[in-house]
Amino acid sequence: MTSLAAAVTHDAHGQTLGPHDHVVCPIDDLEFRPYYTDGACPICGWRPDEAVGRPWWLDADPVLVAFVVAAVVAALMVVIVIAAYRS
Ligand SMILES: [Zn+2]
Repeated sequence: MTSLAAAVTHDAHGQTLGPHDHVVCPIDDLEFRPYYTDGACPICGWRPDEAVGRPWWLDADPVLVAFVVAAVVAALMVVIVIAAYRS
């Protein structure tokens, strides 16, 4: 809980580059958003000094995501079967 609050505060102070932050590469003058390029310039690979945020789904555990999807589908099947049985 403490680490989550610290991460949000860190983000709110603008020290982490988010999805809307643009950076200009000093080598090839390309303006890009490092949030979507894994933190590196897509042409030369230069990285800004600031920390770059990552979309949450890149850090999500795929097994956990698959389990949640399977659980939701199973619950949906239960609802469908109960509705079909009652009608
Ligand atoms: Zn570059």
